[in-house]
Amino acid sequence: MNPHDTKVSQNNIRMNLIIVGTVAFDAIETPFGKTDKIIGGAATYISLAASYFTAGAGVVSAVGGDFPREYISLLNDHGVNTDGLEIKEKEKSFFWSGRYNADMNSRETLVTELNVIDGFKPVIPDSYQGAEFLMLGNLSPDIQIAVIEQLTTRPKLIVLDTMNFWIDNTPADLKRVISMVDVLTINDSEARELSGEYSLARAARKILTMGPEYLIIKKGENGALLFSAEKMFFAAALPLEEVFDPTGAGDAFAGGFIGYIAKTGDVSFENMKTAIITGSAMASFCVEKFGTANLVSLTKPEIYNRIQQFAELVRFADMDIT
Ligand code: AMP
Repeated sequence: MNPHDTKVSQNNIRMNLIIVGTVAFDAIETPFGKTDKIIGGAATYISLAASYFTAGAGVVSAVGGDFPREYISLLNDHGVNTDGLEIKEKEKSFFWSGRYNADMNSRETLVTELNVIDGFKPVIPDSYQGAEFLMLGNLSPDIQIAVIEQLTTRPKLIVLDTMNFWIDNTPADLKRVISMVDVLTINDSEARELSGEYSLARAARKILTMGPEYLIIKKGENGALLFSAEKMFFAAALPLEEVFDPTGAGDAFAGGFIGYIAKTGDVSFENMKTAIITGSAMASFCVEKFGTANLVSLTKPEIYNRIQQFAELVRFADMDIT
């Protein structure tokens, strides 16, 4: 398709990135405090993080009539198109609640209420058709599949994120969507669960036979690994002085990753390395405050400086061994 033929969205910006995922209420408990219901959801974190890199992002999701309009405006204020966010007035929004353990590395899900997401049939707005990039954030795999099947042109890159909830509850649909995408991002425990392998290198090899060409394994404060059939790359996480709330870190990572790819249009392994550093930088901002508090107010120089800190962390001069 000629990109000039692509329909434009309300704000006249050509959509180049579709983001699917929950737009939700979260209630979070960490050793540092507790929140009431605040704005959360995978698509919220992804789109806020991606908004710093690409202007043409649009969300596909559903919320209930209980979802405050100012939360939707918050996304719009960041240039995120919400034509694909269905508001079902008579239903309730997705609700998730989790509690972090003292080390902040592990968490317990206390409540997952699908509500409006249960049985949701996404409808892709015409203005989203022709987008080159698709980020399938955490959501029920049948909805993720329905989105892929509705696109009139297959995107240049489809990235999928998921979590143990879907590995446990809808394994067949999950395997099917995994077979349809180019990049899968999951955390280390999920990679082990999905593959039945303890070694992450073996887990990666097995998962890469399920469909995706690339696999990203997130290891929380221990960084992230990128695998293809022949190559491997490791991105360290920046040791932070303040970690308040890890919620959304995986999604902020995904948003930074796909946002950078959408900005550059380059889907090579080399460019994915920079995209992973960008994702890691966005995740590092995310965890420094509760919920989306940090992600909503970043500046480009702050982001650039943080990416430089990541580069500096692992930079060293080549050794002279003669
Ligand atoms: P993360 O910390 O990156 O895993 O993402 C946490 C976000 O994912 C929260 O804002 C939740 O609303 C959302 N979430 C939690 N469980 C699910 C689920 N089963 N499906 C979709 N989104 C979820």
